[in-house]
Amino acid sequence: MELRKDPVTQSWMLVGDEQPGIGRDSGGPCEWCAGGRLQAGRTVYVSPGGVRVYPHPHPLYQIEGTESRTGEGIYDRMRTVGAHEVVLESATHDRQIVLATDREAAEVLNTYGARLVDLKKDQRFRYVTVFKNRGKLAGEEFSHAHSQITATPFVPRRMVYELRASRTHYQSKERCVFCDIVQQEESRGTRVVEATANYLAMCPFAPRVPYELWVLPRYHAASFETDIAGRSGNGAGDVLELAGILRRSLARVEHITDAYHMVLHTTPNTSTQRGVTVQWTTVADDYHWHFEILPIAEKRTRSYSIKEVYYCPVSPERAAEELRQA
Ligand SMILES: [Zn+2]
Ligand SMILES: [Zn+2]
Ligand SMILES: [Zn+2]
Repeated sequence: MELRKDPVTQSWMLVGDEQPGIGRDSGGPCEWCAGGRLQAGRTVYVSPGGVRVYPHPHPLYQIEGTESRTGEGIYDRMRTVGAHEVVLESATHDRQIVLATDREAAEVLNTYGARLVDLKKDQRFRYVTVFKNRGKLAGEEFSHAHSQITATPFVPRRMVYELRASRTHYQSKERCVFCDIVQQEESRGTRVVEATANYLAMCPFAPRVPYELWVLPRYHAASFETDIAGRSGNGAGDVLELAGILRRSLARVEHITDAYHMVLHTTPNTSTQRGVTVQWTTVADDYHWHFEILPIAEKRTRSYSIKEVYYCPVSPERAAEELRQA
């Protein structure tokens, strides 16, 4: 696999003929349960409350080396350098976040925060994505309750769009677009699913899929990891409150469908190998972290691209060859 940049949209894609990094349950006993082969493997992090994080057994990105960008005429490519981790949400096989206590879910959120902080220290990485694919239709890799984290040498395209648009909104109005959304949704109420003292669960005005749901702070905070670190110290109640509304939101979605994607959107790594990335200098004011939950409501939802990073398991070279011979 390698990373290739689409010269038109400027977004990076994973391309290659090898089977991409998809782990699968072996069909035997769960390897993430106590005593299993993967559970017994090396961890990259264990939270104070015992949430374990492992390197992905079939990583999409490799931790060693440099990105080694190369050009080929107008095209750019680079190595798949990055990190790919599995967060075991619980030692208990089927204890998904929805079934957990608020305290257990808060421990998972604190673990996300700790990994974000740690991975962002690596200046090769421009962005760290925390996501969860739940259900077969969502491409869930292991049946054991888990989420995943990837760190990439580029900012994924959906994030680039959001970051640029938030900056543009801020430049013209001197306000955070998400704060504006929160304010308007709260005054109307029609798209609000639940509000707590500090957090809001709402259906976005222009959803990409049916039942799309966002969970975001009602106060302004750009970076999830900075925010949550500040709140878990003295105000642990806030993380519990967030855990509660996120857990209930996932439970609501599971009434509609058992398959969904959940992704955390937070600030990119603003200090990279090439110094502070100039384009994100106002990000602390213009961006606002949030969770997006994208349910898969129908079996046949086509053209439904929720992946943060697109990958193509067949290279265009091989595709052209096959198509020529077809
Ligand atoms: Zn298991
Ligand atoms: Zn805001
Ligand atoms: Zn977003």
